[in-house]
This record gives sequence, C-alpha cells and structure tokens, in this order.
Amino acid sequence: MNQQDMAEANTLELKTYFQELLDEESEHGDIGATGFKVVYDQLMDSQKDKLREVSGEKFDSLCESGSIISIGIPYKDPTIDYINDKQKGDPDYQLWNEYAKEYHRIYQVLNRMSVAIASRFNGIPLKSTIGGIIGEIDHVHDYFPMVISHRVVAENSGIGWRGKNQLVIHEKFSCAIRFSSVIISIPVMHGEKMESKCGDCTACEDACGFIRFREKLPDYRESCRRYILFLKSKGIEKSICGKCIKACYRSSKFRMRFSL
Ligand code: SF4
Ligand code: SF4
Repeated sequence: MNQQDMAEANTLELKTYFQELLDEESEHGDIGATGFKVVYDQLMDSQKDKLREVSGEKFDSLCESGSIISIGIPYKDPTIDYINDKQKGDPDYQLWNEYAKEYHRIYQVLNRMSVAIASRFNGIPLKSTIGGIIGEIDHVHDYFPMVISHRVVAENSGIGWRGKNQLVIHEKFSCAIRFSSVIISIPVMHGEKMESKCGDCTACEDACGFIRFREKLPDYRESCRRYILFLKSKGIEKSICGKCIKACYRSSKFRMRFSL
C-alpha cells in the first residue's frame, strides 16, 4: 500500500471510530486533521514550547510526518440561549450558569474521546482547554503557555473558519462547538484551511465592545478575562461568558443555516 492509500484507509478507520464514540456518548460532532508542523509553525512561541514538551522524543519525527487530529462537539440546544438571557430585565445569571455546566460537560466528553482516540491510534491526547484557571492568573498572557491552541488545529483541519470573534466557525454548529486534539504518527488525510466567510457580518462585534474595539484596546483578551471574572462574581461556576457565541449562532448572517 502506498502512502496515499494508507492515509485514506487510516482516515476512514479514524472517522468510523469517531462515529462509534459519538454514538456511545449520544453526541454529534466533527473531525479533521492537519500536519503537526503546520500547527507548530502557527502557535505562539510559548505554545510551541508546550507542544515540544508534550511530544517528547517524538518531536523531530512528528515535525517530519506527524499529524494532529481535531475533534469538535457542539453544545446541546437550547443551552446557547441561556447566555445573557434578559427576559426578566436583568441578565439571568442562574440560567447563564446552566450554559457553564454544559461547557464543563462537553469538556469531559471531549477528554474521554481524545484519550480513547489516542489509545486506539497510539497518539498523544491534548485535552480540551478549561477556563478554571483564568481567576488564578494575573494576566491572560500567563494562560497561553499552559495550553496548545485547539483553534489553530481546528481551522487548519478545515473544520471551520476563524471568525471575527477569533473562534472557529463551523458551517453547521457556528462557534457553539468545543475542541480537543490528538497528536498521531500514522499517515492520515489533511483538511484545507478555510477562508473567513464573515464578510460584512458584525453580530459578534455588536454584542461585545471588546471585539468591536479590539484594535484600540491594549489586549482585548485581557478585557475579556476581566469580564469573565465579573461574571464569576455573579455566581457563574466556570470561567466563561459566551455572548459572542450566542451572537454568532442567533444573530449572524448565517443564523438560518446554523443548527445544534
Ligand atoms: S467571551 Fe464575552 S467578553 Fe469575551 S470576547 Fe466573547 S462576548 Fe466578549
Ligand atoms: S458573528 Fe458574524 S462576524 Fe462574528 S464570527 Fe460569526 S459570522 Fe463572523
């Protein structure tokens, strides 16, 4: 079997196994893959160090021929509508917290699945990111070296495009989808990075001034982190906000096309 045939056969086996895992968990989802070196080259320097560390002695061979798989699981309907619900006037923080619980539930599902895929294909699981440490750091810059960007993996795998809100926008699930990744050595087919389709849409910018004025702020991600800390003070259990996700899913120019 040549390299191309092997990659096709492995990709089919990978997708079949992913579907089995989705069925076991009663979830929907999407999967893709890209080159290890493609991801490495696009990470921040501090995240490059992290990827090198988790790859250990396999690093050089992975740079040559390795891949990273991206798996995505969408939120269950109607949890996105629980974000910043103002039907009673002020935001309903108790309802918002139900979205936070769903965020954590998907985190656990993704981690189970990435460990299972890594075990089956002799890979290295990269767990889903968890926002719980946002409150334990002094600046968002302290957070970046702790993680490897699943968004970089997902966008290069062709799972979605990078939106104006900096999230990966899936054709069906919008950005109401969370990711984890798995490093593998076997040959698999790689997806193609998508061009942004945001165009003249401004729904996420309309929903969040930090996104709207990101060019003028010293670092809009730090402003975002501080707002999330404010939400935690209101009783939200996890370090999340989600208004820019709801805006994309419910108010963007693609809202009629998205479904969870
Ligand atoms: S998570 Fe909230 S604060 Fe952060 S960018 Fe999105 S809408 Fe703005
Ligand atoms: S809300 Fe519109 S501009 Fe923002 S990420 Fe979604 S599609 Fe792009």
